[in-house]
Amino acid sequence: MSKKQCIYCGTTERLTESDIIPDALTNARIINDCVCQDLHNSKMTEKFESIIAKRLAFMTNELDIKSSKSKSYANYSASIEIEGNKYEAKKLKGNDDFLKKGKVLWNKEHTQAFGDIDTIRAIAKSNGINESKVRMINSNDIEFIKTLKIDLEVFFSVEMYRQIAKIAFEWYCAQNKVSRKYEDFNEIINYIVDGVGENIVSIVSDIDINNTFNEYCNSGSHCLVGYVSNEGDVNVFVDMFGIIVYNVKICNNILDFCPNNCLLQKLNLDTTRQSFRLHDYNDLPIDMISTFSAIDDRFPQPIINGVKVYVPTMSKDVSGHIFFMKLLRSLSNGFLKECYYTEKIGNTLINNIEELLQGSVVHRKALKRFVTEKINFSKGIALSSTGTDKKSIFIYYLLFILGKQNPDKMNKEILEKIIFDNFGNYQMIITDKLCEEIKDTILKDDNYRSIIIIGSKKVLDWQ
Ligand SMILES: [Zn+2]
Repeated sequence: MSKKQCIYCGTTERLTESDIIPDALTNARIINDCVCQDLHNSKMTEKFESIIAKRLAFMTNELDIKSSKSKSYANYSASIEIEGNKYEAKKLKGNDDFLKKGKVLWNKEHTQAFGDIDTIRAIAKSNGINESKVRMINSNDIEFIKTLKIDLEVFFSVEMYRQIAKIAFEWYCAQNKVSRKYEDFNEIINYIVDGVGENIVSIVSDIDINNTFNEYCNSGSHCLVGYVSNEGDVNVFVDMFGIIVYNVKICNNILDFCPNNCLLQKLNLDTTRQSFRLHDYNDLPIDMISTFSAIDDRFPQPIINGVKVYVPTMSKDVSGHIFFMKLLRSLSNGFLKECYYTEKIGNTLINNIEELLQGSVVHRKALKRFVTEKINFSKGIALSSTGTDKKSIFIYYLLFILGKQNPDKMNKEILEKIIFDNFGNYQMIITDKLCEEIKDTILKDDNYRSIIIIGSKKVLDWQ
């Protein structure tokens, strides 16, 4: 077998594992090991990966995605409203960073400050401001409204398009075990490496396709789909965070050395994933049938009118197959690509981002982060009866239930069961009413502080 080459330049020297989706944008790692270290891994990071990671920090931070290479979450800017006054907060890392000792927030005009009382007094003194102008408030009793600065343009930037092309190309090659450079990919390679060429990446504005992706992809997850168009060219859809779908043209026709052209991989925020790799869409039904396992002997077999009824159990999830079939229907009608920003795409994107950031996606990393940032094991729990931060109260409640159950070992199934048993669903909107109810349940229990501590310890021990 010939030596592996870089899929961009053909070198056999210093090949490395390239993160197909930049490490800073996902909790689920997928790699291509046929990329050279210097020119086509590190250089790409400089050219656009780090720019994109920085500009998307407002989202990745909220979604509790952290690059494995860095110790902390990416920082971002926000405006914090406290009792009707707005303050500018820059370089936030943790959710409550602005409450930290020594930290001071200023309003835009730089006429009013909020922060640690000793620091504020010192500032007042050095500016000759009367002590009476300094007011002390208990941070547990006030509400903070955090407004994120959403960077929409990043989704339409050249850097983003090249980033998306890189994700699609490296993924497609990995799915087909491509381990050398081929001329057939020159168009997309030139676009990724030098930004030369056009119509490689477009934003999908087709409403049916967007809806189909929305139904299948959970908030915050990434989804990649490889398919062959009516015209015979090979493409990959890239759904980023479940909020925007790009189409990437990989090459003009099916290539002998790339036999798999019906491809799917979904990477969820909680690091779980779903995937299949098939020759073409004709294989979908066969693959689906093969996922129904033979008759399961453990299952009760009732006898109806003397006929034994067998219940086939599914050995794996087929929702991806169904999703792909729905996509095929839209694809056969031809679909709308748009290369540039339109108001329609902009509005859909804003809605999707808002929905994503307002929702609470509870997973292991998010819970661990919450406990690390908010639970003070020595001082106790700062849960205020007037607090209305729904996301926090919801997690306090999960910790409370977890502490009550006090399971031997924490795992994903236990968390899912708690959510399902208490809310009857895996997905929910935390309304004002629900928020009040769960808060009351916690505060009614005289031992809630110690119970939450027990739950928090379980989360920290969760492997
Ligand atoms: Zn290379």
